[in-house]
Amino acid sequence: MDNDGIGLENTNTHNETDMQADRETASKNFIEQIIEKDLREGKCTTVVTRFPPEPNGYLHIGHAKSILLNYGLAKKYGGKFNLRFDDTNPTKEKTEFVESIIEDVKWIGGNFEDRLFFASDYFEQMYEGAVKLIKKGKAYVCELTPDEIREYRGTLTKPGRNSPYRDRTMEENLALFEEMKNGKYPDGSKVLRAKIDMASPNINMRDPIIYRIARMTHHNTGDKWCIYPMYDFAHPIEDAVEGVTHSICTLEFEDHRPLYDWVVRELEYENPPKQIEFAKLYLTNVITGKRYIKKLVEEGIVDGWDDPRLVSISALRRRGFTPESIKMFMELCGISKSQSSVDYSMLEYCIREDLKIKRPRIMAVLDPVKLIITNYPKDQMEYMDVPNNQENEEMGFRKVPFGRELYIDRQDFMIDPPKKYFRLYPGNEVRLMHAYFVTCTDYVTDKEGKVTEIHGTYDPATKSGSGFTGRKVKGTIHWVAASTAQKAEVRLYENIVDEEKGVYNEDGSLNLNPNSITVLGNCYIEPSVKGAKSYDSFQFLRHGYFCVDSKDAAAGHLVFNRIVSLKSSYKPE
Ligand code: ATP
Ligand code: MG
Repeated sequence: MDNDGIGLENTNTHNETDMQADRETASKNFIEQIIEKDLREGKCTTVVTRFPPEPNGYLHIGHAKSILLNYGLAKKYGGKFNLRFDDTNPTKEKTEFVESIIEDVKWIGGNFEDRLFFASDYFEQMYEGAVKLIKKGKAYVCELTPDEIREYRGTLTKPGRNSPYRDRTMEENLALFEEMKNGKYPDGSKVLRAKIDMASPNINMRDPIIYRIARMTHHNTGDKWCIYPMYDFAHPIEDAVEGVTHSICTLEFEDHRPLYDWVVRELEYENPPKQIEFAKLYLTNVITGKRYIKKLVEEGIVDGWDDPRLVSISALRRRGFTPESIKMFMELCGISKSQSSVDYSMLEYCIREDLKIKRPRIMAVLDPVKLIITNYPKDQMEYMDVPNNQENEEMGFRKVPFGRELYIDRQDFMIDPPKKYFRLYPGNEVRLMHAYFVTCTDYVTDKEGKVTEIHGTYDPATKSGSGFTGRKVKGTIHWVAASTAQKAEVRLYENIVDEEKGVYNEDGSLNLNPNSITVLGNCYIEPSVKGAKSYDSFQFLRHGYFCVDSKDAAAGHLVFNRIVSLKSSYKPE
């Protein structure tokens, strides 16, 4: 046995280095491992990635994953990141979407600098590519009807049959294709197909259509073209033209990879891009499919694509999520090859973590009832020194006015409380946060028995910060001084669908949560909130994190969205 001292030592040293390398590899996701291998083996010398949205809707949280992944890889390997609009299908595309997508990609942190591209700018190269295929005998003009093409294609268990047009001469194909381009034939009457293999076990390889005739005005090229390339042909060309090295897409394209490789090979690109697939991000209790969101928008069930109950990027921004919180979320999710759903509460965890020490913690009363401190001088006002964020001293202090008439939240008072209720009730003493102890002495109700006013007395010796140790109280409640309070509308949200109750009704429609939005129109917030701008966010003590609504707030009319409550059910491992 080779176990003498030297041998052992050598073996050990080698193993440790190996293990170190293994550990490093293991901490990288599978895409990073592929890229590093390609760089090591000289298959590429730089890394170029892209995010290729189709401008047919607003981006959602799933797209954010793709943006951050592609941008992150380019950044990590000192490469380049392109934003490229995959605008080869004019029917569904709109300029409105182009603009919103650019805004969203920038906001989420996908810094594409000046690398903004449009696939439609490559229509000429695509046309030339098609001509090249024809010249190589690798493409032909087919006149079967769509139904016939489907029928000839075969099924998963049955091979396809060759089209009767498959053996046209190269010259005939060239002439026909040019005539197609020149508008000689009606829409849908002919297509150009790649000549691959009608018996391939992969249906995508059974002579796929690569060009169709369609007279449609394109948002970029107008009426210049009446033939348009199909996605599977166009996409690899777009990547190759831009020098993309790693073309990252989601799993549903795995079966299309042989076609992707076929296109870049037959077109003889020198450094062909490589397609890599990863699993889409799915979130529980939200709606991400563009089709469903579009329906909700069109039926007026939600307030546009940026309704804060949606998870489009613009909706998340309007609700008050930050790019940092979304990035943290994506890091927690990781990259994988197997499909799974991530719990929405994980996203909530991330925004809480992000805002926790960044945002001021202020007092807001969402369901107000008046509390009158009967032994406090009538026209007096004093200013309490209140830390802006107890967990972040750097944020300093502010002055919060206190006076005889306050608002407190209705939930913090009960006439007849159950055991273990430590908030305000007749005869009980509580702490008014950052102020005094107050004892409830009386209350007033209206005809229906609803409490309209609470009376109490305060103890001047108990002022917060005075070092008072005379006695303790079990409950602390928040408040705002009535005379200086800022009136606001506050919107509370719940998930728009509930997976436990079933996302769809029997008829296939969405089973919507009727309580997904609650509008509180009569809230009072301490005056430090004055002048808050769109997207500013705060912690309202005991209520959660709130953000100024960018759409409905106006001068003199504060509107807040609750981003998330304070309690969390999600705990990271
Ligand atoms: P949807 O199905 O929601 O309409 P899409 O895939 O049609 O989305 P595209 O504009 O074609 O939207 O997508 C742009 C890029 O975003 C593609 O590379 C796509 O793979 C990626 N992407 C889309 N949805 C997700 C998701 N849920 N998770 C990760 N990446 C996604
Ligand atoms: Mg798509």
